[in-house]
Amino acid sequence: KQGGATNGFCFYSGTSSSDLQEKLELETDLHTALENDELMLFYQPKVDLITKQVTAAEALVRWNHPTKGFISPVQFIPLAEENGLILSIGDWVLNEACKQAEIWRRASMPDIKVSVNVSGQQFKEATYQARVQEALKNSELPPSLLMLEMTESLAMSDVESSIELFEGLKTLGVGLSIDDFGTGYSSLSYLKKFPLDELKVDRSFITGIPENKDEIQLVQAIIAMAKALRLSVVIEGVETAAQLNLLQATQSDLIQGFLFSKPLPADEFSEYVMSNVS
Ligand code: C2E
Ligand code: CA
Ligand code: CA
Ligand code: CA
Repeated sequence: KQGGATNGFCFYSGTSSSDLQEKLELETDLHTALENDELMLFYQPKVDLITKQVTAAEALVRWNHPTKGFISPVQFIPLAEENGLILSIGDWVLNEACKQAEIWRRASMPDIKVSVNVSGQQFKEATYQARVQEALKNSELPPSLLMLEMTESLAMSDVESSIELFEGLKTLGVGLSIDDFGTGYSSLSYLKKFPLDELKVDRSFITGIPENKDEIQLVQAIIAMAKALRLSVVIEGVETAAQLNLLQATQSDLIQGFLFSKPLPADEFSEYVMSNVS
């Protein structure tokens, strides 16, 4: 209910004063979250459509708040973007993910290519390329095992400078991925100019499958386009066996979704990988 009163409670559309209060509290606490070691990375498996082996992972940040418990990145990443903390948080994520991928590489388990999400401020920061290089050097992770995920809308917000930034990052030998694809307004001619390796089809295209017959056609078309550009295709948000069945007939490469696994702490992730090795 919006703007009305039910059971003595008032509901307002937009931001209420308690929402605002909550936001301010989180903001204050976020400033000390890093130094207090409250941030954690979870890893969600990306599974090969054909072999069903885990070959990659997406690192997803979580905030283990001392009194409020786990807080979703959907809640605190926007705050961090507002107050600039995203630069130090993003840097921590990058370094932590590289260290973890190198631990896995040295362990007796298959190599895992780790993706990190890059926010707009990080991407546009003049020193971003140097920071990625530094994280690779410090962790000793081979660049080919790191993938950077940039959302479609970020990449398209300034095409010319994106191309330049992508090309700079590409010289380091890392993989580049376009996230949430299909939600922005990419034109093919632009996508072709980016030195990309991977395209992630947004979850919103998958939720309607199999009920919505048009949806799978749309996904097929996106996959065909990505393949024409020689990109690896990740399908996000696969939750049901029926969805996987329909995707089985497509040219997609990797599947990421709750059907296989939700994001896991590092130790549970490696157990998951090993339990699937054939
Ligand atoms: P994203 O990059 O699109 O990440 C995928 C999100 O979808 C994750 O949510 C993941 O848990 C969720 N997901 C995966 N499979 C399924 C599925 O089958 N069904 C459903 N319903 N959801 C699924 P999460 O971890 O809550 O992250 C949300 C968003 O927060 C991310 O969306 C990303 O935009 C942002 N984020 C997370 N970690 C970072 C980070 O380290 N840096 C930045 N800049 N953003 C981050
Ligand atoms: Ca290994
Ligand atoms: Ca992502
Ligand atoms: Ca995504």
